[in-house]
Amino acid sequence: MGMDAVNVLHMNSGDGESSYANNSLVQETVLREAQPVLRQTIKDIAKSDDMFGQCFKIADLGCSSGPNTLLTASNIIDMVHEASKENNRKTPQFQVCLNDLYGNDFNSVFESLPTFLAKLKEEKGESFGPCFVSAVPGSFYDRLFPDDSLHLVHSSYSLHWLSQVPKGLEKNTSHIYVARTSPTEVFEAYQKQYATDFTMFLQARAKELVPGGRMVLTLMGRKLSDLAIDDCGVGWEVLAQTLLDMAKQGLVKESDVDSFNMPYYNPCEDEIRDVIEKEGSFSLDVVSTFRGNWDALDKDYTSTKASSELSIRHGKNTAKMVRACLEPLLAIHFGSSVIDKLFENYGKRVAEHLAVEKTRHYNIAISLTKK
Ligand code: SAH
Repeated sequence: MGMDAVNVLHMNSGDGESSYANNSLVQETVLREAQPVLRQTIKDIAKSDDMFGQCFKIADLGCSSGPNTLLTASNIIDMVHEASKENNRKTPQFQVCLNDLYGNDFNSVFESLPTFLAKLKEEKGESFGPCFVSAVPGSFYDRLFPDDSLHLVHSSYSLHWLSQVPKGLEKNTSHIYVARTSPTEVFEAYQKQYATDFTMFLQARAKELVPGGRMVLTLMGRKLSDLAIDDCGVGWEVLAQTLLDMAKQGLVKESDVDSFNMPYYNPCEDEIRDVIEKEGSFSLDVVSTFRGNWDALDKDYTSTKASSELSIRHGKNTAKMVRACLEPLLAIHFGSSVIDKLFENYGKRVAEHLAVEKTRHYNIAISLTKK
């Protein structure tokens, strides 16, 4: 299945119970954890005259919809404001370009703009900015902006999405991502797709950023270079098991499970470095890594397993988060009628897993400078 993620991938729209807007606490936690990297990067930028000229041009790639979209913009604006004051400069004007794929719910982002802009004025005063917000639909694996038109590119929790499901996964039956027992060609197909995609991303941004322009990118990665022993694919394996259970009950077709694979990849630090070095347009200045619980409401970072009572709650919350991100993708492949049952079952399976082993996300935040 050489499916283009670009045409089908998007988070759940609107603000209903299963929407991304209502289920993006994991991503919000990640934004908060990565803030020191962003703040340091903006402090660096503030030292240079050219960058804090008249208008500071920012792009947030994979902005989605919901509270996190404008939270990101507002964090960046606050940090620039702070850094300007520290350097005795006037705060610049802002151009904030919000990018996501064509199916993204940009309308709800637009609807929240008046409140956002009014709040900015209220907090920062009439003479602040102004801040010009625009939306740029398209894939960040292609060009999105004119040459030399951006000072800062930000992207959080989006770059683990590939441009397409890798080719050559025919032997990855009963799995939906690289599993411990997947044949080596499956690893290789995923690794190759990641390297191709991230190279394209860097090439496009290298043209769009001004010299000395910066990028802060945060994504789900993995700690160990050996994908066969790292735990980054465990959550997808639990989903694969859930789908296989349902195939046994005749609720989904087993052949549909066999042919489904995620357009998603968890790179390790070395792979990220490798692509950046080979592509050659950027220097890698900061790498920061941190763990995140599957359930963002779970603040316990020490236990290696969850109690059976807590695991049920964590399972439900994890299932809601995953549904908000994957429903459109899964509904196209398996049919929308199975989605409710699938995530109900997935929540139970996640609970079982967390009661045995509390697997956590491994997040990587990096800061780069265009040479
Ligand atoms: N940054 C937001 C959203 C993260 S969800 C937050 O922190 O909450 C990931 C987003 O990346 C989704 O909205 C998805 O549609 C988008 N995305 C995935 N691949 C993309 C691509 N190739 N180009 C642009 N956006 C993409």
